[in-house]
Amino acid sequence: MSLSLKASPLPPGSTLGILGGGQLGRMLSQAASRLGFNVVILDPEENSPAGRVSQGQIVAAYDNPTALTVLGQSCEVVTFEFENVPAGSVERLAEGGAVVAPGPRALAVAQDRVDEKTFLNSVGATTVDFAAVDSLNDLISALDRLGTPALLKTRRDGYDGKGQVWIRSVKMAADAWQAIGQCPAILEARADFVRELSVIAARGRDGRIAVYPLGENIHKGGVLKTTIAPAAVEPKTTKRARAIATAILEGLDYVGVLGVELFDLGNGQLLVNEIAPRVHNTGHWTQDGCVCDQFEQHIRAIAGWPLGPTTAHARVEMTNLLGDEIEQWTTLSARADTRLHLYGKAEARPGRKMGHVNRVKPL
Ligand code: AMP
Repeated sequence: MSLSLKASPLPPGSTLGILGGGQLGRMLSQAASRLGFNVVILDPEENSPAGRVSQGQIVAAYDNPTALTVLGQSCEVVTFEFENVPAGSVERLAEGGAVVAPGPRALAVAQDRVDEKTFLNSVGATTVDFAAVDSLNDLISALDRLGTPALLKTRRDGYDGKGQVWIRSVKMAADAWQAIGQCPAILEARADFVRELSVIAARGRDGRIAVYPLGENIHKGGVLKTTIAPAAVEPKTTKRARAIATAILEGLDYVGVLGVELFDLGNGQLLVNEIAPRVHNTGHWTQDGCVCDQFEQHIRAIAGWPLGPTTAHARVEMTNLLGDEIEQWTTLSARADTRLHLYGKAEARPGRKMGHVNRVKPL
């Protein structure tokens, strides 16, 4: 069922469903609970971080038909916390009469890097030049057109820099094709950016749009380490980012929060790297920098409530705690300017997102 823009707001006491039980689902569930909603999580892993702070968790695969039917029947609206849930599951929920936000189209577009860039360019959001690659021959002709260095990425299922290989000369083509598993791919020209920015934006059921100030992001090994927000950018950069976010939200008839990763080319030009049809790691700063954070904003949007304010009341430096960095919690929790957000994950595997800290400074 498509989301009626005219539908009346869901009252507190209604039940929301979330596909995915990780930290984003957990923080969405906490925000929903504060607004008086009940939350049911679907995740194959028992005792998931989100399941433990929600009214219930259905432990089943994302494409389990019975689980999807139960979820759809017990929730007034269903959302998702990561973009690799099978698009078929979201379609199945919608066909069964459940309201799903954002809708299947946003999910499908974000799941395929070629479709994503094609869509972005169609709404006037510029990206790097790219080519779809389905064979070694395709790769060689794409390298001929785009030049080197260029970045080969899998079309689907990539995240945090996984499934990506830099190609510095045509001689590396065969090895790169092997390295990504000879699967459908995209070749991207290198973006000569001076820094990476992101914008978090939301669209309500009534079509209203709210955009947060930009964040500047620092990655290490392809994984986000720090976001500083509001980023020190010129007003024209903010204006351009807002226009890009608006075009994407409207182009997808989107309801909910969306993350847009940007390359700042330093000459006033912004390229879109990728979009995330969900709350985003680079938006965690809003928890301690804004009255209405991205998690509450998403819940407000999908529940048909008015969107909340997006202005910053503080400058925030958000740092992810990866793997055993979680052990710093004793020191971090003693800092007067720092808020600790821990995800309740039992095992601190190397590189695993275990929590984050927001260091709050005056604007
Ligand atoms: P992604 O998984 O697409 O978000 O890429 C992870 C990181 O790789 C980005 O945050 C950038 O630092 C870098 N990257 C991705 N695509 C490009 C590109 N076309 N040119 C330069 N750097 C890139």
